[in-house]
Amino acid sequence: MIYADNAATTKMSKTATDIMIFHIKETYGNPSSLYGIGQKAKEVIEEARSDIAGVIGADPKEILFTSGGSEADNQAIISAARLGERKGKKHIISTAFEHHAVLHTLNKLKDEGFEITLLDVHEDGIVRAEEVREAIRDDTCLVTVMYANNEIGTIQPIREIGKICREKGVLFHTDAVQAVGHIPVNVEEDNIDLLSSSAHKYHGPKGVGFLYAKKGIKLTNLIEGGAQEKGRRGGTENVPGIAAMAAALKEAAANMEKNAANVSKKRDRLIAGLKEIPHSAINGDEINRLPGNVNFCFEGIEGESLLLLLDDKGIQASSGSACTSGSLDPSHVLLAIGRVHDVAHGSLRLSLSEDITDEEVDEIINSVKEVVEYLRSFSPIWRDLMAGKKEFIL
Ligand SMILES: *Cc1c(COP(=O)(O)O)cnc(C)c1O
Repeated sequence: MIYADNAATTKMSKTATDIMIFHIKETYGNPSSLYGIGQKAKEVIEEARSDIAGVIGADPKEILFTSGGSEADNQAIISAARLGERKGKKHIISTAFEHHAVLHTLNKLKDEGFEITLLDVHEDGIVRAEEVREAIRDDTCLVTVMYANNEIGTIQPIREIGKICREKGVLFHTDAVQAVGHIPVNVEEDNIDLLSSSAHKYHGPKGVGFLYAKKGIKLTNLIEGGAQEKGRRGGTENVPGIAAMAAALKEAAANMEKNAANVSKKRDRLIAGLKEIPHSAINGDEINRLPGNVNFCFEGIEGESLLLLLDDKGIQASSGSACTSGSLDPSHVLLAIGRVHDVAHGSLRLSLSEDITDEEVDEIINSVKEVVEYLRSFSPIWRDLMAGKKEFIL
């Protein structure tokens, strides 16, 4: 089996697993309790907070633990919106290809009367910082742009956007779930006010993440309850998960350069192999993308069938489309970069992890070639394309 869906989730590292099991067994006290094992649990959490802050250049007080990336996105955006509306500012800028945790939160605010501007991400899957500047108005309370896209892997000019937001006095949030642990992220240097991250995207456990909120930004609670997390999120902390997240992040940070160099070589080998398939195209800028992300469209086929047949061959990948949610709509990300419906339907995302080998990459290439050819052999669209009744787009 070849697992090539690391943008969806990753396998936990041995370090993170060992730490998690240790704390499940040993550190069972409630961090809010005043006796020994409670205080021990509290120490574990605070050490994790400090480790995580260190990796992204934050102060430990600026790190809030959440149940993952989605919760962090929700809380960051809702908090900025509440701060904005108090000053009569109800305009938010984002992009058309954000994760649904961002887009759906923005939709909720739109229903409340906020105005949302979604910026174009161009054919290369990259937002232009200058277009962010042009979109900022006197009543803009928040700019939220993802660090790297989860489907096509393109990396955004976060530092420049952050700089513009600082100049204009507008809060800047970034969904950095795909970036943290994979490429260098530093909240200070990148001019970030709010940042979301999730442990299971960098070999940590599922169901735990964090929100960075720059000192002085008042957060709105999504969960009311006890005084945990300085009253910003009620509920007994996920001690083993938090400890394992910190361990996974420290490990990812320590090996980042080596891992990125290694996996991007495999990525480029995979891209070169898939380009040999006629009437195919890579989605998103070829250079400015995450080290492990490959995303292609193949004309004349349908992504879901491609995935099922690849699964039969032992290759786990994703179409990056909404098929998993039972919707037949093609991916909003591919539509945002200008792919037409027919082409967007034939998409394939392969997201590699550090341990993939050249042999496995070659096996993926061969399997995709075989499956695409097979599917085209009985595709009515392909027949029309070959007969000249329809024009090739790719
Ligand atoms: C996975 C992901 C999320 C959601 O994170 P969860 O921890 O699964 O809630 C949000 N944004 C992006 C870009 C992601 O890739």
